[in-house]
Amino acid sequence: MPDQSERAAELRGLLNRAAHAYYVLDQPILEDPVYDRLYQELVQLESAEPRLRSSDSPTQRVGGAPAEGFTSVDHRIGLLSLDNAFTRGDLLAWHERLLKVLDRPGDTQLPLVGELKIDGNALALSYRNGVLERAATRGDGTRGEEITANVRTISSIPLRLQIDNPPEWVEVRGEAFIPDATFAVINAEREQRGEALFANPRNACAGTLRQLDPKVVAARRLDFFAYTLHLPVDAQPPSQWAALEWLNTAGFRVNPNRELCADLAAIQSFCDHWEQGRHDLPYATDGVVVKLNDLLLQDEAGFTQKAPRWAIALKYPAEEAPTRLLRVGAQVGRTGAVTPVAEFEAVALAGTSVSRATLHNADRIAELDLHLGDTIVVRKAGEIIPEVVRVLPELRPSDATPVQLPQHCPECGSSLVREGDEAATRCVNSSCPAILRGGLRHWVSKGALDVDGLGSKLIEQLVDRGLVGSLADLYRLDAALLASLDRMGDKSATNLVEALEASKKQPWHRQLYGLGIRHIGEVIAKALAAEFFSIDSLAAAALEAPEQIAELHGIGPEISASLGQWLHNPANNQLLQDLRGVGLSLEASAAEQEAASQAGANANGMLQGKTLVLTGTLPNLSRSDAKALIEAAGGKVIGSVSKKTDYLVAGEAAGSKLTKAESLGVTVLSEVDLTAMLEP
Ligand code: NAD
Repeated sequence: MPDQSERAAELRGLLNRAAHAYYVLDQPILEDPVYDRLYQELVQLESAEPRLRSSDSPTQRVGGAPAEGFTSVDHRIGLLSLDNAFTRGDLLAWHERLLKVLDRPGDTQLPLVGELKIDGNALALSYRNGVLERAATRGDGTRGEEITANVRTISSIPLRLQIDNPPEWVEVRGEAFIPDATFAVINAEREQRGEALFANPRNACAGTLRQLDPKVVAARRLDFFAYTLHLPVDAQPPSQWAALEWLNTAGFRVNPNRELCADLAAIQSFCDHWEQGRHDLPYATDGVVVKLNDLLLQDEAGFTQKAPRWAIALKYPAEEAPTRLLRVGAQVGRTGAVTPVAEFEAVALAGTSVSRATLHNADRIAELDLHLGDTIVVRKAGEIIPEVVRVLPELRPSDATPVQLPQHCPECGSSLVREGDEAATRCVNSSCPAILRGGLRHWVSKGALDVDGLGSKLIEQLVDRGLVGSLADLYRLDAALLASLDRMGDKSATNLVEALEASKKQPWHRQLYGLGIRHIGEVIAKALAAEFFSIDSLAAAALEAPEQIAELHGIGPEISASLGQWLHNPANNQLLQDLRGVGLSLEASAAEQEAASQAGANANGMLQGKTLVLTGTLPNLSRSDAKALIEAAGGKVIGSVSKKTDYLVAGEAAGSKLTKAESLGVTVLSEVDLTAMLEP
């Protein structure tokens, strides 16, 4: 662990470089939430030990210096930053501090305005006698870049105020931004020209505002929302809400998603609403800004060095964060594949506390150049499994050691094996308890035999006590024995025995999927079961005519080989015999055979000649299953979206492919749409 002054110096160095890349070069090197957390860490170090606060600290200044190539101008009224709140607690603390400054402790009835925090670039617009005279960027808050010619091209900024007898001078602040759809087009064009892509709409907007040729700016179609108004004292409206109305009347676009809130509770529901609602907006927002409504009270509250005391930006829950890697453990799955797991200091991500993330395999560890003690960036979006995105080598302690994958299985101690060009390292001991537990969990899972009441904890007990050594053993359990286990009563034991009995009637394709043969997911199992009506006919084909299987739509030689390998293993043959012995049919019923022939006739060719792209995580289908399903219906799956793409199938956390598809007018399908389309 580095000492505090070393850590502060490293953070200062990294944050200053990141701020330069962000504000001046418009090519960020850190994700915003990562910058925010590291910044907070530095603030905390500096306030605990003020001697660590040096004048070059990013905590001591606003924004970046004005860029070269533009005239820099002094702002008539400074443009500050906003303090951030990341949790409800931070918001309450801000409110309490505000009431204290205003000498109104406990006053819960102070009206507040909730506005969206538009993720763009602040502009300072100066009007003289109603005419736009000058426009400038925020720069360092006191001096910005003069960009009037560029700003004149933004059609939502009035060149002349639409009011009679305007005050002699008017200063307007607001956010210039690029809507998501325009951003997608700009990046698509840059890609075609082989130019570097903009990281996000905000950076694209900053780069555009700094174009030396206003024609380029005009072509990029920037937009603008006004949010702050300064007028000579005698003309100033009484409140922020009235100021927004004034701006609207004067011809500015003011964001309609604003609310005058009677108290903090109302603000909280405004924030909660937009945390979800923001995804439906056609532009990026990175939080909500809460402002004291009364302008006289705002004056009273005043400013800190960097930001007003009367406003706060409540950031949406981060989906990425920096944290410190503590150790790397390993998990053994049902196929014996060993997945390294990063264990780190807990961080809040997408609203939950996260302290472990998958590292996939040894190659990924090497690619990340992971060291124990590293500061890593972790991501979790929605329901997606947390992952380590990258390492921040600038913050690596000098004594950090590289991470190594274990040589032995953490469950059974046998040597781990990595074969040929396989990415996975495996435990090949077929009686490894981890492999058995994984196989049992898979067998009883929803898509397979779907047995209720047999969770991971119970499976662990059954394996640890030696009561179950194979899938077939499950069917030999009796209620009395089950009832004697931890947290099992007579009732749940009887229910479980009944559920197991009922599971014997599950259709043949589920039984096949439940066997957990590598590469045979739900969709492939269905396809195979529709063609081969029993394990015997499938085995005969796999062992005697594997090409017959490989030629089926969406199957291919890899799957056929995996099936052959599985059937060659005597232990698996024994398992099939045992399963039959306890009452599993391992074949299709007459009704299933009839339905399969019908479905095959109908679904074939539904996507003949169509090109599809997959993106994001689908709720039920794995990538390979979705691909197999599409190919089985005659479609082709390719990697990137173009005008020729027929459909984009998008799941959770779909990214740039979705934006691109939308901008090109490609039809977007959900998993439900896709499966409905292929239904007979
Ligand atoms: P900020 O962006 O957090 O907040 C201040 C800005 O919010 C204002 O200047 C204004 O432009 C904008 N804003 C949008 N809607 C508004 C509204 N309705 N009312 C008032 N203001 C509104 O602060 P900042 O000082 O501009 O920059 C700090 C932020 O920039 C950090 O939180 C970080 O996320 C980002 N940053 C990132 C990096 C990086 O490497 N990724 C580097 C530096 C800064």
